[in-house]
Amino acid sequence: MATPLQVLKSYYGYPAFRPMQEEIINSVLRRKDSLVLMPTGGGKSVCFQIPALMMEGTAVVVSPLISLMKDQVETLKANGIPAETLNSGNSEEVNQMVHRRCEQGKVKLLYISPERLMGEIPWMVQSLDISLFAIDEAHCISQWGHDFRPEYIQLGVLHERFPMVPVIALTATADKLTKADIVERLHLRDPQIFISSFDRPNLSLDVKRGYSSGEKLRTILNIIKRHPHESGIIYCLSRKITDKLAGRLREKGVSAGAYHAGLSMEERNQVQEAFVNDRIDVVVATIAFGMGIDKSNVRFVIHYNLPKSIESFYQEIGRGGRDGLPTETLLFFNVQDLITLRSFADSSGQQEINHEKLNRMQEYAEAQVCRRRILLNYFGETSERDCGNCDVCNTPPRRFNGTVLVQKALSAIMRAKEQIGFTLTAEILRGSLTPEVAARGYQSLKTFGAGRDISSRDWQDYLLQMLQMGFIEIAYNEDRHLKVTPLGKDVLFGRKQAELAFVVREDLRKGKRSKAAGDKPLEPSASSASSGKAENPELYERLRKLRRQIADEKDWPAYVIMSDKTLHILAAEQPVTLEAFGKIFGIGEHKRDSYGKQFIEAIKEFNAR
Ligand code: ADP
Ligand code: ZN
Repeated sequence: MATPLQVLKSYYGYPAFRPMQEEIINSVLRRKDSLVLMPTGGGKSVCFQIPALMMEGTAVVVSPLISLMKDQVETLKANGIPAETLNSGNSEEVNQMVHRRCEQGKVKLLYISPERLMGEIPWMVQSLDISLFAIDEAHCISQWGHDFRPEYIQLGVLHERFPMVPVIALTATADKLTKADIVERLHLRDPQIFISSFDRPNLSLDVKRGYSSGEKLRTILNIIKRHPHESGIIYCLSRKITDKLAGRLREKGVSAGAYHAGLSMEERNQVQEAFVNDRIDVVVATIAFGMGIDKSNVRFVIHYNLPKSIESFYQEIGRGGRDGLPTETLLFFNVQDLITLRSFADSSGQQEINHEKLNRMQEYAEAQVCRRRILLNYFGETSERDCGNCDVCNTPPRRFNGTVLVQKALSAIMRAKEQIGFTLTAEILRGSLTPEVAARGYQSLKTFGAGRDISSRDWQDYLLQMLQMGFIEIAYNEDRHLKVTPLGKDVLFGRKQAELAFVVREDLRKGKRSKAAGDKPLEPSASSASSGKAENPELYERLRKLRRQIADEKDWPAYVIMSDKTLHILAAEQPVTLEAFGKIFGIGEHKRDSYGKQFIEAIKEFNAR
């Protein structure tokens, strides 16, 4: 009998397991219950798919979203694995055909929605030889989790009805409470619990703070320019911002769609499908987007506004780079977002928890140490080394003695009787006679104009740093006025010194190539994955077209036919025999036999030009 590794190679064309996959597969093969925690894109699917292929009978996979099931079934079929789905989107005819094929033992994996499952149990008991149950997105069973699905509760009966069938539960998000809840509600028996690292080293991390909307737009356009014809997601806080930004991008010639809860289901599905099938490059979305898609070639994820928690943030950036290739993530952070989110938290049912989550998000955005270490630490992992793939690692902040500067700002705040917020403080320091300054008579303050030499934007940044260092705080219940803390008073009266970090700004003027570290072009993607041969970009384009053509014929997303990574390697290695083609990363036997000829022909033709 084949080993799990042989199955991985022959069906998926991958040379090796990722950490933990093999242990998990072996545990399922021993018919033990398991709980698997792995980050989004970590590779959970093969953990139940390979046992399904190796065991007698049909594996039943419960998954919460029809689009996810569809995606997974297409991916399996593209690898020559017989898989089907039973869901409310199917016609009665299709569902009957699926039943029959299952009864004949022709289906190795059957995907099913939780609400459908209950009705199918009698049929399963009577006619189906079940190898295992896989419960995907298992956190949906817990009320503690963030997307509780009442239908999941019923899954508790599975063990009772099918006492001999092992259950494997998988999720990317589970804190301690949720974890215990999953085990209890699914009645898992002495389960093996597998917790893999949550690190996603191919995602770069970058934070830009205090950017105006014009600067955000230019930064975004720069990123898009670095990724021609590639996919990206931009998350925004509100529908209004989403629509506006999508419109601005389209004006600039970007193929972009908007996605939010204000659109009809049909409009949303259209945008999602166009994105999945590479007909539009960029989706600007509220958090409503992304849950139902497995698209592996998302090359950048941008947060236009601050997310409300690290959990949401990590899940959202996790939708990038599932294929393991370098992927950019960028978070814009400014005080206005923080204020908006604070008021959301105030009016939410769980004030305390939500403020606490926001605090942690804010700490991340303001951090001056390796950002990945903060994230991993948040998820209960410690890492001993700086990552080398975040903005703090790449451009460590340089500091100077900012005592005088801080004193000027604190003195302005004190003289205005702590009745001013960020903007007014900066205006007073700059000596700008704005209507508000004039109305309140602040032009006669002694500190008026004391910081003329520093731009208003830099003042905003220094004020933010002062907030971070605890010299000032925002009185959220008093019109968000700034208050000087006891620590701040120590600096103001010369009892303590204050260090500030230089404000580094990219040159965002039009037409100028920015030289900031985050703007380095990513290394050619193939070099790290193949024998080191350089990729031919023209050939890559040619092969991409071929992939598109094949995908259109099948009505499948292009990445189901072949991942971007595989395509990059093909454009570097340029195999011209079926044998060499079959050795390429991501090409299993089925893909070799189905598409090998066409790709080899295209490569030969290209080289004969
Ligand atoms: P998850 O469900 O954990 O979010 P997936 O199961 O969709 O992640 O896997 C993410 C991507 O990684 C998929 O494209 C999958 O084919 C790929 N993958 C999984 N295991 C391996 C492996 N051992 N080697 C290379 N790629 C893998
Ligand atoms: Zn780092």
